[in-house]
Amino acid sequence: MLIRWDELTKDQFEQYRDTATVVVNLASTEQHSRHLPVGTDAIIGKAVVETAAGLAKYPVLVLPQVCFGFSPHHRFAPGYVTIAQNTLISHAADICRSVCENGFRRMFLVNSHGGNQAYLAAVINEIGEQYGEKFSLMALRYWDIAGPRIMEIRDSELGGAAHAGEFETSVIMYLRPELVQKDKIAEGPPVPGNPWFQMDLLGYKKYLKYSSFNFHNPDGHVGQPHLATAEKGKLFFEAVSEELAKFFDYFHV
Ligand SMILES: [Zn+2]
Repeated sequence: MLIRWDELTKDQFEQYRDTATVVVNLASTEQHSRHLPVGTDAIIGKAVVETAAGLAKYPVLVLPQVCFGFSPHHRFAPGYVTIAQNTLISHAADICRSVCENGFRRMFLVNSHGGNQAYLAAVINEIGEQYGEKFSLMALRYWDIAGPRIMEIRDSELGGAAHAGEFETSVIMYLRPELVQKDKIAEGPPVPGNPWFQMDLLGYKKYLKYSSFNFHNPDGHVGQPHLATAEKGKLFFEAVSEELAKFFDYFHV
């Protein structure tokens, strides 16, 4: 059951305190190649979280989303707003502390931008150290929990569905088709990997390395957006929303 945090009055929180899960989407504002809007991660993140909350059996309080993330690797192109990593950690940790101080005991940080993952790990450690078991906090990338279903739907091999590739382009084609510049969609092979690292939403990453996102091509996408369709976007979107709803309900106590 979807409940928007910012639509409640102060008197309405009490009824949810003992039962509800609190969720916030952490997104970004940055180039998504020549065919998708800079708000791609925010548009998808908000839709997935709200749809999943609506599908969940138990009450899920959804906080207003955080639309700015860690995006210096997209500075080569206009439209980015990037926030310093330490600022992001402090900001998100303060959101978590506020939720905990409001009396809630379970919270999920749903990440919709790969570049946020490192700072969210720091937040998990900081809040975990402070509150321990009395506050259950988890962070996840929404696509990870639907990995097997995404693999069934996609046509690309690993390397085809990374940044603004087959997956994200399909989902925006489904959610907001008017925002897709179809004539700007580039064709190309999947981005190659090595034995220890494969760029892809579901790629394996055995080491950490920083790289600007124009390394693959000057357009800034990584993957194969030309394989995208709105029909696949619907299937991808339903898969991630349904799996996220199951995740919310699984941890309900
Ligand atoms: Zn993205």
